[in-house]
Amino acid sequence: MATIRQQIIDMLQEGIFDARELSQALGIREKEVYEHMPHIEKTVVSQGKTVEIIPSHCTVCGFTFKDRKRPSRPSRCPKCKRERIESPKFTIR
Ligand SMILES: [Zn+2]
Repeated sequence: MATIRQQIIDMLQEGIFDARELSQALGIREKEVYEHMPHIEKTVVSQGKTVEIIPSHCTVCGFTFKDRKRPSRPSRCPKCKRERIESPKFTIR
């Protein structure tokens, strides 16, 4: 577990990735990436850095899910009701 988390941290220090890209690169499920994120955030904050989350947005109408506390992908846009939602992206600064 610690190894996967460290690998995610290493990747996010190098660039901006969404959960699907991270899951594919590390061979884990997308859901697991979201489960690791709160722990990763704690580790990163203890090192004086922050996990920046670029929020999900609807690719149809542009609605941005700014208020979401949990960094998971919403399934449907509350505004236009379509399911073309772009995953949130993560990076470490
Ligand atoms: Zn929409």
